[in-house]
Amino acid sequence: MTALRNVAVLGATGSIGTSALDVIARHPGRLRASVLAAGSNVEALVALCREHRPDHAAIADPERFQALRDGLRAAGLQTRAHAGAGAIADLAADPCCDTVLAAIVGAAGLDSTLAAARAGKRLLLANKESLVLAGELVMSAAGAAGATVVPIDSEHSAVFQCLPEGRMGPGVGRVILTASGGPFRGRSRAELAAVTPAQAVAHPKWTMGPKISVDSATLMNKGLEVIEAHHLFGLPAARIDVLVHPQSLVHALVEFQDGSTLAQMGLPDMRTALAVGLGWPERIDSGVAGLDLLAHGRLEFEPPDLETFPCLALARQAMEAGGTAPGTLNAANEVAVEAFLEGRIGFLDIPCVVEGALEALPAAPAASVEALREADAQARRLARAALPRYAAR
Ligand code: NAD
Ligand code: MG
Repeated sequence: MTALRNVAVLGATGSIGTSALDVIARHPGRLRASVLAAGSNVEALVALCREHRPDHAAIADPERFQALRDGLRAAGLQTRAHAGAGAIADLAADPCCDTVLAAIVGAAGLDSTLAAARAGKRLLLANKESLVLAGELVMSAAGAAGATVVPIDSEHSAVFQCLPEGRMGPGVGRVILTASGGPFRGRSRAELAAVTPAQAVAHPKWTMGPKISVDSATLMNKGLEVIEAHHLFGLPAARIDVLVHPQSLVHALVEFQDGSTLAQMGLPDMRTALAVGLGWPERIDSGVAGLDLLAHGRLEFEPPDLETFPCLALARQAMEAGGTAPGTLNAANEVAVEAFLEGRIGFLDIPCVVEGALEALPAAPAASVEALREADAQARRLARAALPRYAAR
């Protein structure tokens, strides 16, 4: 009988968090949510606590502590309340969990991701922004502490599944990440000038949180994923390719030196990647049906349109510059996407904000978490200051 795994679900109220809780609930003797953490939505967090009865619940917004404590008490739960980013990072390193699902959105997830890596947890990594910002630090901390990192991003889970024991070996030639192309595939720049946030988040294949949905529409998501793959698998950028595959059934391919290519396929439902991580190295039920290829018919592939969607090239540039540049790219993108979602800037302004930040802030060495955090803060200030210029256009 497999030992019970205690899972800290960080970002529990989000798209990935709720999908993970769906998988966890299917395996009561094997998986248990011992920690649930979220940003500011106390009502949603308490509702999840009623259902999953964790030992600890944490809300990032310190002003919501009282509301969380009162909500848990009113629900008659024994769950202990915590608040603040520091408390979430402490719980990620605490013996109350052996497995940490890092599914907070954005660079806000870095502290808890790093804490879990340093504590040697089984780290199920969905929070790609933490790898983009501090990939070397996270991966070396995980290596030093013996933490097993299992990627949750579907493309990286696919690569992980295609590699023997999930590890890169000398026989691998290149890795190909697929992209759906997002809701605006095939459109021209002129057609994108006036698209709305509602159109941008209406992804044709995946149901996801708003930030990553916009990233998918700009192709920044694929750019962040190239950087993520570089850190997870130790591959240089030149050996990480991107192919647009509108059906989103092939999630990635690994090409070996002998001419053999392995692909991982499945329906576009994140519960598969989550089940791979939660059960690893065993396979467990995810609630996702198998793939009926006859029902889907054709699989198509095409190159990404780098001119209409400049974010993918910007991400590659930042990766080549190295140091603080990927963090600058990520921070400026987070600011720009938030402003776009709030209707303050246009869709085509997103790459302009990012490019402006990369030009204004030359890459510096990323020697410490502090240096990276400072670069992240500086890029956010600069990007915020640039927003009114775009808003006025
Ligand atoms: P989401 O917006 O649906 O959920 C985000 C979660 O993070 C929520 O629970 C929210 O409360 C929490 N959160 C936000 N700010 C926080 C903060 N400062 N401190 C603590 N918690 C905070 O996002 P999502 O789509 O679930 O994505 C989560 C992460 O997983 C992102 O990094 C995303 O890129 C990655 N990812 C998501 C998908 C997907 O299908 N949704 C696929 C691959 C990777
Ligand atoms: Mg992905």
